Amino acid sequence: MADLLSGLESLGLGDLSGLDIYNKKESASKKDDEPKKEATVKIEETDFLFDKKFECPVCNKSFKTKMIRAGKVRLEKIDTDLRPIYENVDTLKYDAIVCPHCGYAALNRFFSYVTHKHAKIIKESISANFVNTFDDLPTYSYEDAIKRHKLALLNDVMKRAKDSEKAYTCLKLAWLHRGYIEHLSAETEDFANKVRGLKAEEISFLEKAYEGFKAAFTTEEFPMCGMDDLTVAYMIGDIARQLGKYEEAAKQVSLVLTSRKPNDRIKEKARDLRDMIKEEIRSLGGSR
Ligand SMILES: [Zn+2]
Repeated sequence: MADLLSGLESLGLGDLSGLDIYNKKESASKKDDEPKKEATVKIEETDFLFDKKFECPVCNKSFKTKMIRAGKVRLEKIDTDLRPIYENVDTLKYDAIVCPHCGYAALNRFFSYVTHKHAKIIKESISANFVNTFDDLPTYSYEDAIKRHKLALLNDVMKRAKDSEKAYTCLKLAWLHRGYIEHLSAETEDFANKVRGLKAEEISFLEKAYEGFKAAFTTEEFPMCGMDDLTVAYMIGDIARQLGKYEEAAKQVSLVLTSRKPNDRIKEKARDLRDMIKEEIRSLGGSR
């Protein structure tokens, strides 16, 4: 878990050993090496951004942060696990909002929901140590975006957010690592190693997302993070497939396909997923 949140040391939040996302006992070691900052400023990305003013629900101070102009972006495609890919800009980089004054951070959709009790916990566990080292750049690099989302995840863990909220933040982190790999130049120093490391982190976050959504599926209400039960079931199925848990993946697919609830879009995707699972199992058998 501490490794999952590596990179937050520069924010004064380095002592995360023993921290577990879903509050289970687990010992973990601390990783000290800070990822290198990268100046991946793309001029055209700024066309899709604007500064939005927020009032922090924890410290009540106001600040501005970069947001996507929703009307300007065009969806290009959707990954099998429902990751949206937009033309010219990876909108996912801008989904975590960070208060530069106190270190409170959350995904946009959860940002305003802070109880008095949560605010107190965040002040004590995060604000007390938080040092704002985020650069005020016109666009966010992947390293920057990942750090913002990790801080959001740390906030989720500290305030004991719902499993679905933590799982959703983990899923976004997995997607950010995938986006990072896709945008990494082949001329990057130590390219193959870097890709391998990022892929391993993507898988770690997918595993955590899978664990959280599975737990939330039976204990929480729908809609969950804006998704109905069939959509979440499908998504768990595809994440299971990516993790090589084919039996579980097939179970989720049949849950979607046998449901009487209407959601044709997801049912069609579930049929594709069923074919993909079969194909992957067949190719595994052939390689043995
Ligand atoms: Zn604040």
